[in-house]
Amino acid sequence: MKADLVLTGADVATPGGVVRADIAIKNGRVVCLTSGELTPAADEVINLSGKTILPGGVDTHTHLREPGFTHKEDIVTGTQAAAAGGYTMVSGMPNVDPVTTTVERYLDAIERYKQSSLVDFNHNPSPTRLEEVGPLAEAGAMGFKVFMITDKGAVYPHMPELGVHHQGRLFEIAEEVKKTGRPMMVHPNNQELIDTLSERAIKAGDTSYQTVARLSASYDGIVFDSAISYLCRLQEVLGFHLHILHLRSPRSLDVIRQAKRNKQKVTVETNPHMMFLCNDWNEIERLGPYALNLWNGPDTTDLLWQCLRDGVIDVIGSDHAPHLREEKEIGWTNMFVAANGTPKIQETLPLFLDQVNAGRISMNRLVEIFSSAPAKIFGLYPRKGAIQVGSDADLVVVDTQRKQVLRNEDMLSKCGWSSWDGREVTGAVDHTLVRGQFVYRDSKIVGKPGYGRHTKPLRGEEADRMMDMYAAARV
Ligand SMILES: [Zn+2]
Repeated sequence: MKADLVLTGADVATPGGVVRADIAIKNGRVVCLTSGELTPAADEVINLSGKTILPGGVDTHTHLREPGFTHKEDIVTGTQAAAAGGYTMVSGMPNVDPVTTTVERYLDAIERYKQSSLVDFNHNPSPTRLEEVGPLAEAGAMGFKVFMITDKGAVYPHMPELGVHHQGRLFEIAEEVKKTGRPMMVHPNNQELIDTLSERAIKAGDTSYQTVARLSASYDGIVFDSAISYLCRLQEVLGFHLHILHLRSPRSLDVIRQAKRNKQKVTVETNPHMMFLCNDWNEIERLGPYALNLWNGPDTTDLLWQCLRDGVIDVIGSDHAPHLREEKEIGWTNMFVAANGTPKIQETLPLFLDQVNAGRISMNRLVEIFSSAPAKIFGLYPRKGAIQVGSDADLVVVDTQRKQVLRNEDMLSKCGWSSWDGREVTGAVDHTLVRGQFVYRDSKIVGKPGYGRHTKPLRGEEADRMMDMYAAARV
């Protein structure tokens, strides 16, 4: 057999651990993991000595802003940033315009990705129209996104049409999503409580970003935690797959740890900002609206890292959520109306590689949270999320020792800025390959819009078995 491409000499993160191996690729898939004379001949052989090859990132939480908000980002620029960040698969979010609540709109979104995406893709619709939920899963949706949040002052990104605040409504939605077997991704929030606390601050004339950031952690984080308590109970009685987003608070971690001990079908995401931004009050002070409008509260950093290491938190979702500077500036004086969200998809992997170097997380665990666990949870594994024979050759080649300074001017997102501008990290992405083709090479975009493919999840028993195996292997 002659391969199309052989990558030789690198350390390779396989499901069994990091080993020195050659990767042979044919027709977009890994066909051999070997070394020495066992490695087949190939049309092209690339020596990557000194580098490390990881399975490409699987981002199940990417706001690409198309359709409707393409002045902030579009699928071309967003997936260029993804490729530069080592992601080979992204799944978009439904808070676009029009919001993704029907099969027709889902397929329209998919059509746009087919025209524009550099990497493989899916898109997570909102399950707020119950009659559309089953057909959306049939059409290929790999997860559903529920916002328990609606922005009152800012018109975006949390539109009223998508907000689910009524507990009975959430119950009915969860029942419907359960029938599909797909994960229900939930942004937890107690809207009534945060409204009351926000109105108090506004009435007192205090709209500062510091106050808004503190609200989320106020009263021991009850705004967030009370939603998670209800969600975990709801999961217990209904049995749907609950995927909790934006995990950040110690109290919630206790509830989740218990749910996992009970073998409930609960998986958990946290985000780069929870680990590198919202945990650091000095950064919130310095960056104002260019941080986010939330603070984790004091002393959460070590606990969150512990939960990432031990598996209470399953995955990192980039929650890449770009806005233009013009939409952020108002936040210096009135954070209640500033667009909320920050770009992150290009910075996430380098920030975490830096922490591998610092000894805070192992390379194996980073591979899990960045790639294999999201692929398993969303029914994509082992086609995605693994470097093994038969898997798609979705690869990210990193230099774990290369120092770089993250800079606004190097960001490929249309918004053109980063919360981590000026930060030095050790660890960088050299190349990204999707199905054996370079989309990012020598730190430059070489992929073409329209190369990415709609990647659908496993369905039914196959997906259940994957999820059961994943759950059994966890804490
Ligand atoms: Zn989000």
